[in-house]
Amino acid sequence: MNIILLGPPGAGKGTQAAKLVDGRDMIQLSTGDMLRAARTSGTEMGQKVAAVMDAGGLVTDEIVIGLIREKLEGDKKGGFIFDGFPRTLPQADALGDLLAEKGETLDAVIEMQVDDETLVKRVVNRAKEAAAAGQPVRADDNEDSMRFRLMEYYKKTAPLIGYYYAKGDLTSIDGLAPIDEVSASIDKILG
Ligand code: AMP
Repeated sequence: MNIILLGPPGAGKGTQAAKLVDGRDMIQLSTGDMLRAARTSGTEMGQKVAAVMDAGGLVTDEIVIGLIREKLEGDKKGGFIFDGFPRTLPQADALGDLLAEKGETLDAVIEMQVDDETLVKRVVNRAKEAAAAGQPVRADDNEDSMRFRLMEYYKKTAPLIGYYYAKGDLTSIDGLAPIDEVSASIDKILG
């Protein structure tokens, strides 16, 4: 089973993906995590995307599609969870093509619906908690960057809601419910 978790930054996609990894032996494919890893290891690509990421913009389709293509070559275990990908219509088309090439299907697109002000608070808190625990704070976890990331989401990613709705793949859930309730909603969709 291959699924997409769709929703704005801070909606809880990563949290839910981690639960699916534990509970269903699925593989989480987070392009955000892959890009952060590329920065940490100082690859040329990592250096290239750093400024765009810190400002809250989207890196090029070509780069993220390349990252996903590589991962689809590996073990699929209980299936892939696409987290933070696709974020644009060309990425969505590319994902469809890549899955088709592998003889795989997309089984569900789960839209996590949340409210902006709650998201801004969540992300600012995530930064505060990380700082208090002596952990590194994501450069894009601040209010200005978050508002920019939200606008990028509405302009470039939200059109995917209509795209997957038209394909009959979309289910929307309340992403602001307590974590366990959100997990239960996802379990119900996945069966
Ligand atoms: P995330 O951890 O998913 O919030 O991603 C952090 C940042 O990585 C985003 O703000 C973008 O700069 C970049 N990024 C992650 N995934 C993508 C994607 N699919 N397309 C373009 N940029 C992405």
